[in-house]
Amino acid sequence: MGLERNIVVDSHKFDVVVIGAGLAGMLMTIACGQNKIETGLFEKDVPGGILLKMDKIQNIFDHREITGKDLSYSLFKQATNNQYVKYFYGCVCFFQCLDNGRYLLATTNNSFWEVKAIVIAANLESDYLPKGMLKNNGQLIVNENNETIWKNVYGIGQVIGNKTSEDILRAITVILKNLQKSNLLNK
Ligand SMILES: Cc1cc2nc3c(=O)[nH]c(=O)nc-3n(C[C@H](O)[C@H](O)[C@H](O)COP(=O)(O)OP(=O)(O)OC[C@H]3O[C@@H](n4cnc5c(N)ncnc54)[C@H](O)[C@@H]3O)c2cc1C
Repeated sequence: MGLERNIVVDSHKFDVVVIGAGLAGMLMTIACGQNKIETGLFEKDVPGGILLKMDKIQNIFDHREITGKDLSYSLFKQATNNQYVKYFYGCVCFFQCLDNGRYLLATTNNSFWEVKAIVIAANLESDYLPKGMLKNNGQLIVNENNETIWKNVYGIGQVIGNKTSEDILRAITVILKNLQKSNLLNK
């Protein structure tokens, strides 16, 4: 633990880290930014996830019809055009609880972060996640607050079986309420 504490410097701290910049991760990040929560968004590939493979999406948010690529670009701009949000190109490969109840999170390019809460918005290829956190089908086990078996680690999007943008928006509301209720962000 001592070693890990030494690696993390003050500039490498966030209230919340969102893993994955697909639809779910970008919407979660927008909501965090609007609530003035210091948030890091990590994406191992191009932001957009599954959206980038979708030619036309109908009746989503204010759009009657939009390509997945355009929607992705618009959401990414909204998510990152906020002083409380920082975006990183990087693959999260590890996180573990520290003595102080926060999490140490690492990426494959050797950056280390200390965070109060984590929102997993990645896809089902989650080989870095503790096995006990997953069901047999690869989805995360979550409770009614979308919290995993680890405190302050949440799941959202396809990784918990959300199928539509409405499902994702509902999950975001629940997670934000829970974060605010836990007083975690004021510490
Ligand atoms: C054909 C099709 C049509 C659909 N049509 C609709 C529709 O009309 N309306 C609607 O609301 N929904 C629709 N959906 C569902 C919707 O697209 C999905 O719910 C949503 O896009 C899933 O988003 P996600 O963010 O959960 O996952 P993804 O889009 O898969 O995003 C996950 C992201 O996490 C990143 N990632 C993974 N692991 C890591 C890591 N370790 N570190 C950093 N980044 C990582 C990945 O690179 C990826 O970018 C459709 C889905 C499909 C397949």
